Amino acid sequence: MQQQTAPFSSKDVPRLETRDLCRSFEGRRVVENVSLKVMPGQVTCLLGPSGCGKSTTLRMIAGVEMQDGGEILVDGQVICDTIFRIPPERRRIGLMFQDFALFPHLSVAANVAFGLKGLKVDPRRRVGELLEKVGLSDKIDAYPHELSGGEQQRVALARALAPRPRIMLMDEPFSGLDNRLRDGIRDETLEILKAEDTAVLLVTHEPEEAMRMADEIALMRGGRIVQQGAPYNIYKSPVDKAAVAFFSDIN
Ligand code: ADP
Ligand code: MG
Repeated sequence: MQQQTAPFSSKDVPRLETRDLCRSFEGRRVVENVSLKVMPGQVTCLLGPSGCGKSTTLRMIAGVEMQDGGEILVDGQVICDTIFRIPPERRRIGLMFQDFALFPHLSVAANVAFGLKGLKVDPRRRVGELLEKVGLSDKIDAYPHELSGGEQQRVALARALAPRPRIMLMDEPFSGLDNRLRDGIRDETLEILKAEDTAVLLVTHEPEEAMRMADEIALMRGGRIVQQGAPYNIYKSPVDKAAVAFFSDIN
């Protein structure tokens, strides 16, 4: 075990932490006291059935949805509580969704450069570097409709990585992909994110995806985290019958 590092080493500070995040819609609590940690270099997976509050949690962390209560910290600094709020574009948090949301009228290069809007960097150089990283240098002038699903996903990854986010939030990013492609793209995406030193919070409703990708799983149900731990421990010792049923598809 590598737990003997100095107590104040930056490795011990979560890259991302939420404390008691809450959110209601029309008087109904959809996210209730969600406390999560994502450590540097790790993938934490928020796993739970449809409607349990995963996307709302992610949107609050990204800053595109306000929380009713709780705090969000990046590298140990509060970036958002109920009084203080850093705007989304200054959080150094990247977002990827299921539909890749590329701009159809923009070339691959322009789509990736969009991720650099407002930053003082040479877009050409960074776009070239990113397309090389995702293996799409030869598609720099192509348009989204000329690309396969897997290629579009990689352009979306390059765009999200452009501003060098500290954390990548991924909301079911692989569910739109062909089964044959999915495993390869999952592995490749993780490899790229780890090489860029980006910690990941991945949302999925598929236990198999969480087991494959996560260093840590937070099991969510009805707006709450009901269990959190290493994938194997959660799979072997589910917290209750509902968790057993949820994992029963995997064998
Ligand atoms: P998940 O991503 O786990 O499927 P969501 O976070 O999208 O769940 O939604 C959680 C619950 O909150 C659902 O019941 C959903 O209908 C509700 N909800 C989400 N966004 C809104 C909104 N803007 N207004 C009202 N209800 C919402
Ligand atoms: Mg969702």
